[in-house]
Parts: sequence; structure tokens; C-alpha cells
Amino acid sequence: MENCLFCKIIAGEIPSAKVYEDEETYIFRDIEPKAKIHLLCVPKEHFASLSEMDDGRAALVGRMLKKIAALQTELGLSDGYRLVVNQGANAGQTVPHLHIHILGGEPLEWE
Ligand code: 5GP
Ligand code: ZN
Repeated sequence: MENCLFCKIIAGEIPSAKVYEDEETYIFRDIEPKAKIHLLCVPKEHFASLSEMDDGRAALVGRMLKKIAALQTELGLSDGYRLVVNQGANAGQTVPHLHIHILGGEPLEWE
């Protein structure tokens, strides 16, 4: 997808701090961390948001969640973590390529 920031990061056209990669998933550090550890997990296939989900993409996102869980210790998140998917304008989604925020490394505020 042309002119998509995360597609450019996945392609290596824009540098990023990669923490994990496989054939369908890329995980890298958020440039403006909102917690001690703040990662972004993205599918290599471009789609903008949960609104564009179909059965294949739902299975892909399921595998992404499973991988995050399997990588918990390796990612430094053994004491727990929070996943966030901002969806659309009211949630403040700024990059229209589906991404799961992974937050942790310290106790996280809630309320
Ligand atoms: P959203 O607001 O769409 O849910 O999340 C987009 C995230 O991408 C933000 O947390 C923002 O800090 C991060 N971000 C924006 N531009 C870049 C970049 O060039 N590199 C990295 N690593 N993260 C970025
Ligand atoms: Zn993209």
C-alpha cells in the first residue's frame, strides 16, 4: 500500500526498532512510548482497521494475539501487559494500518 507509514516500516523503507518478525507479522517499538515498554504489532498485509475484517483477517489477528502471548517473556512483559486497538477518529487512530498496541514493563494506570 503506497503512502502507508506502517507498510513503509514493514518494507524497511523507514527505520524502526524491530523486536519480532515472521512471514505475516511485524512487532516494533512505538516511537512515542506511552509506557516503559510500548510495542506495535502489525500484520504485513495492509488493511486499515477492524472495519475491514473478513474471515481470513480475523484468523490472522487471532494468530497475532497467540504470538504476543507466546512472546510475553521474550518481550519483557512477564508481569503483564495491556493490548489496545484504536479504531477510528474517536479513539484517536492516526495510522490507517491495523495495529495492536502492546503496553507494559511497569504497572499501568486504569481509570
Ligand atoms: P494510533 O494512534 O493510530 O493508535 O497509533 C499510532 C502509533 O504509531 C502512535 O502510538 C505513534 O506514536 C506511533 N508512530 C507514529 N509514527 C511512527 C514512526 O514513524 N515509527 C514508530 N515506531 N512509531 C510511530
Ligand atoms: Zn499499510
